[in-house]
Amino acid sequence: MAAVGAVSRALAELHARLAVVDGGAVADYIPQLALADPAAFGLALVSMDGHRYSAGDALAPLTIQSVSKPFVYALALAELGLDAVTARVGAEPSGEGFNAISLEPGTGRPANPMINAGAIVTTSLIPADSPSERFARILACLSAFAGRPLDLDEAVYASESRTGDRNRALAYLMRGAGSLTGDVEQAVDVYFRQCAVRVTAADLAVMAATLAGGGVNPVTGEQVVPELTAERVLAVMATCGMYDAAGDWLLRVGLPAKGGVSGALIACSPARFGIAAYSPPLDPVGNPVRGVLALRELSERYALHVMHHPGAAPATVARDLHGESVALVTARGPLEFTTTERLLSALADAVAPLPSAGGVVLDLDRVTRVDGASAAMVREELTALRRRGLTVAAVGEAGAAVLDDPDHVFGTRERALAWCEQQVAAAEAPAELHRPPPGGDAQHW
Ligand code: GLN
Repeated sequence: MAAVGAVSRALAELHARLAVVDGGAVADYIPQLALADPAAFGLALVSMDGHRYSAGDALAPLTIQSVSKPFVYALALAELGLDAVTARVGAEPSGEGFNAISLEPGTGRPANPMINAGAIVTTSLIPADSPSERFARILACLSAFAGRPLDLDEAVYASESRTGDRNRALAYLMRGAGSLTGDVEQAVDVYFRQCAVRVTAADLAVMAATLAGGGVNPVTGEQVVPELTAERVLAVMATCGMYDAAGDWLLRVGLPAKGGVSGALIACSPARFGIAAYSPPLDPVGNPVRGVLALRELSERYALHVMHHPGAAPATVARDLHGESVALVTARGPLEFTTTERLLSALADAVAPLPSAGGVVLDLDRVTRVDGASAAMVREELTALRRRGLTVAAVGEAGAAVLDDPDHVFGTRERALAWCEQQVAAAEAPAELHRPPPGGDAQHW
């Protein structure tokens, strides 16, 4: 599927603007991570239809680090059920850093699975006969989320294994409190391997989209975890994913998210898309500076907050070919980021088979509302199509909002199609038969 221009351009523009943002520090408590390029910056987005968009270093390798936590939590929930897992790991925001000591008075239970203490216990819960089998199951699960076989970055794993005394200390404390059972070294070793799995921002976007899509990988179509599991993981990401910045994140960005010390950040827009950013410099909380800014901007601009009022019935998009040279694309309902992305995809598919002097009618007569950012994306795409030589007509009030030339906006689909066909026929006719460029004869709605 070819990338759709306006969404790619929005990511590229955001990428270009944030690439120059300084600030933050590359994590160095795992020595191998200190070698990361602070200028590396990638963005990737995957829709529920499996459309992929990216900008910058979206294919640069990085280790998944803490972004593995929601996925391994998903595996634990899917294998053991909510009650068995919450008996061992809580679901309360800790309000503390990712590597805090977290022992619930009385039980020793760590506060949640998104901080290290909770993640080490969660990993230890994955049913397996040996630590190597446990890691193999985790790697297979992460790979299914990504839609391709992932592997281990041996250098980062070895580096963390050599220096990870704080995580060992957390694990020993939890075993002392009774909340971690079994061999501490083995438990921590599987956790270190899990954190050192190699991914790209493009992989992370597919993984995030799988959680956003009820556990179905939008690229492979595989149901990786049950829908209810995905929903629960999103809930815990929303309240605990951003460590001690989780409350502010929910307030400002409003998307379930998870960051990691390698500079990875994912966010999930339920039933819409998954997004990932990679940029190594971290803020004092341990979240990637540029990734946080990118998500904040995207959420505000496209009204992505999960508590945002969704408007009326969901929009639907349809397309068909009207004759050989004119395509018709129809949308109904509210146009916001996701429905606009689908509309632009449908538009790209519809115009692909057209001759160079073909035409396209965008029927938005039954669009109930369109926000400014979405209208701008459609307008940009229609302008690009007109520059390519296609005749473009739009229908309805929303059509007038997305097409700069009012002469090419019509009250009914029939009039728009008739006009478009006439234009295309004139363009296809021999030059001497060309009539003066029309426009004045357009009928207005
Ligand atoms: N492997 C890292 C650690 O345990 C993961 C932490 C993170 O990404 N926040 O310290």
